[in-house]
Amino acid sequence: MGLTTTIPVEVVLAAGLTPVDLNNIFIASPEALAWVSDAEAAGFPRTICAWVKGIYTALSRRPDIRAVIAACQGDCSYTQALGEILEAEGREVIHFQFPYPPNREQIRREIAALAARLGAATEEVVRVQEKLRPLRRNLRELDRLTWETGQVRGRENFQYLIASSDFESDVEAYAQKVADFLKKARGRKPYKAKVRLGLAGIPPIFTNLWDYLEELDGEVVFNEIPRQFSMPYPDLDLADQYLRYTYPYDIFGRLADLEEAVKTRRLDGIVHYTQSFCFRQMFDQVIRERLHIPILTIEGDRPAPLDSRTRMRLEAFVDVLR
Ligand code: SF4
Repeated sequence: MGLTTTIPVEVVLAAGLTPVDLNNIFIASPEALAWVSDAEAAGFPRTICAWVKGIYTALSRRPDIRAVIAACQGDCSYTQALGEILEAEGREVIHFQFPYPPNREQIRREIAALAARLGAATEEVVRVQEKLRPLRRNLRELDRLTWETGQVRGRENFQYLIASSDFESDVEAYAQKVADFLKKARGRKPYKAKVRLGLAGIPPIFTNLWDYLEELDGEVVFNEIPRQFSMPYPDLDLADQYLRYTYPYDIFGRLADLEEAVKTRRLDGIVHYTQSFCFRQMFDQVIRERLHIPILTIEGDRPAPLDSRTRMRLEAFVDVLR
C-alpha cells in the first residue's frame, strides 16, 4: 500500500498490508533527481513541487505497490491532483481526509471508513496501536537523547523519525533497528552542541543539510515534522493521536509545538525549510512573527546538495548565533 503522506498507518497494518511511504522511496533513491525529470517528461509541469513528481515516478518503479492512499485534505492540492492522475491511469486510490478544522468525531469517522475500506477489524486496529506503543516510546527516547544529552545527532534523529511514517515497511525489523541504535547511543558520551538549532517545515529535499550544519558546529536538536511523524504524544487513542498530529491541520498547532520546542530544547535559532512551489511557504511570515527567536528561511527545489548561496547563508546564520 503506497502512502503519499503520513496517515493512520495502524489501519494499514491491521488490514495485513505493507505500508510504503513513497516520499521515502523517492528521496532515498540514488536517482531521485532523474525521477523528477522523468515525471516532467511524462507531462508534469516544471512549476509544481518536486516531491509530487518524485513520488509519481517512485510509484512507477514499484510494480509491487497495488494501491495508494492519498490525503485529499490535510496535505496539499498537488497530492489530491496526483491521486486523480493515478486513478485516471487505472490505479486503485483510496482517499483519506484529515478534517479541517481538527475535529475528533470526524477523524474518528475517517479512520473507521479507512478501516472498512481496507477490511481491518476495529479490535485489530486497537491491537496494532498497542503493539506499536513500545516502538513509539523508543522513538521518543531517541528524540530525548538528541536534545537532552546530545548522544543522538540531529541527522540520526531525522533518519529514524522520518522512517516512522511506514516503519521502513517492516515493523519488526525497524523496531529492532531502533532498539539496537538506542543501546549504542546510550553508551556514547554526551555531546554539547555549540549552536542548538530547530529545523521547521516539511522534510528538506537537500541531500547534505545536516552534514553541512554539523561542519559548522550547528546541531539540529529538533526536527519538527519527522518528530510529528513518530506520533510523540503517549497514551492517546487512535483518533486523538491523529488529532494531536500537527502536520495536516492549521498553522496554530504547529506554532504551539514550535514554541514549546524553543523553550524546552533551548534552541538558539530555527532554520525554516520551505519547498519551491509549496503553499506552506506562506506560513513563513506567521512563524517569524510568532516565534521570538532568530529564524533563517531556506528554500529547496530538487534533490541535490546545498547550493553555494544557501551554504553561505547557513554559515552566516550559525556564525551570528555562535
Ligand atoms: S512539499 Fe508542499 S506542495 Fe509538495 S507535496 Fe508537500 S505539501 Fe504538497
